[in-house]
Amino acid sequence: MRIFTASLATETNTFSPVPTDMNAFKAAFYAGPGEHPDTPTLCSSVVPILRRRGKAEGFTVIEGTSCWAEPAGLIQRKTYETLRDQILAELKAALPVDGVVLGLHGAMAAQGYDDPEGDFLSRAREIVGPKVLIAAEFDPHSHLTALRVANLDLMAAFLEFPHTDFEQRGEHVVELALQALRGKIKPVISTFDCRMITIFPTSREPMRSFVDRMQAMEGKDGILSASVIHGFMAGDLPDMGTRIVVVTDNDRAKGDALAAALGRELYGLRKETAMPMFDTEAGLDRAMAIRAAHPEKPVTIADVWDNPGGGVAGDATHILRRMMERGMDDFVVATIWDPIAVTFCHAAGEGAELSLRVGGKSSPEGGNPLDLRATVERVFDAGWQSFRNSRVTLGSTAVIRPVGTNIDIVLITSRTQTYEPDIFTNQGVDFAGKSFMLVKSTNHFHAGFQPVSSEIVYIAAPTSYPTNPATTPYRKASLELWPRVADPLGLDT
Ligand SMILES: [Zn+2]
Repeated sequence: MRIFTASLATETNTFSPVPTDMNAFKAAFYAGPGEHPDTPTLCSSVVPILRRRGKAEGFTVIEGTSCWAEPAGLIQRKTYETLRDQILAELKAALPVDGVVLGLHGAMAAQGYDDPEGDFLSRAREIVGPKVLIAAEFDPHSHLTALRVANLDLMAAFLEFPHTDFEQRGEHVVELALQALRGKIKPVISTFDCRMITIFPTSREPMRSFVDRMQAMEGKDGILSASVIHGFMAGDLPDMGTRIVVVTDNDRAKGDALAAALGRELYGLRKETAMPMFDTEAGLDRAMAIRAAHPEKPVTIADVWDNPGGGVAGDATHILRRMMERGMDDFVVATIWDPIAVTFCHAAGEGAELSLRVGGKSSPEGGNPLDLRATVERVFDAGWQSFRNSRVTLGSTAVIRPVGTNIDIVLITSRTQTYEPDIFTNQGVDFAGKSFMLVKSTNHFHAGFQPVSSEIVYIAAPTSYPTNPATTPYRKASLELWPRVADPLGLDT
């Protein structure tokens, strides 16, 4: 048995001011054939999993290229076509194969391509023909298109948001692919369009119970897999929106019925799934009140929409500015993306005091730059943080402390959201003794920060992220979705 595997992934925020080119892939994660580390990344876990299982079970795995760019704006056409054609050439060279297992994200958009994954999958199908199995793992913050489903034999998305289960779902897809290749199952994909777009954190109810129940169905009564495609509201594309995916063992009617039942149920929960968010002033009031009552651990303040994981720059200053203006001078910040400021700090050296213009450079929406007099506390050539078992680069970094304060700000050059508290400790910052931690992430930080925080306060401050689908000026996405339309499925009583 011969299986080809590769990964081509990023998440495209079509509203982002940060374009995506080949350098963005090379800087974030790029592994040529055979070069993938044994540790997984978010979207490429199928590659090391297949490598391990191939060795243990005696089948041949041919590895193609795996690459990932930090979420940002539209992918340059030449970049997408080069990466696509490179992986397809690797697939051709690997023929004959029995199966193809891909690590995708599912929310890519490139200049001239509204559905790059559909384009990529249909070309892969052309190369291998109709009888070879093609399976893929997706991020739930993606778009499901008919072209993808038509060219896939099986698929699954991460169930958790934060995506703490990316490795388990990689194992899940690989296991189903192997069962199908060994003739034990015959996967069939069913889908349902929920006609809505919102966010679905599984760190709270009602999504916690919803995905627990979905997962409990897997492996029973011919249900092989069940996933929610959450959709990605910052991707203005024709198929944006929430979908259910059910994979059955050759029982389309059952899969269609279950996908529709789960989809209608989720639709009924649509007004309750998102976490409560505060505006900046109310959120800071709340954080200060919690701190006064619970001084034993810091309060985590999430700058929900200045999340590089959603494709914005991660250099917004609104909340940081207001915290300083309000005299909250005992906190840590992870992170502000600012290559210019980091370059200046490295040039000045550790211990130097300098005038520094911080953040606010990528677009006007996130607030103006902060002009600070600051001490360079630490500089690192290759900063990093963890996300579960994977290692996420921060590029070169600098930690600065505004003069006369007890504020430590981690500045980075490789855009990423905040995942784990080691984003502080790896840069020599002691967070545990501080009053507050300001992080840039919608919800992926939750698993790591919840244990070290007295409470988490979500603040929705302005950025270039389109946070309200009811008013976002979409041009390609369907406008017949909740919350633009009150009850598009006509199920409200
Ligand atoms: Zn995601």
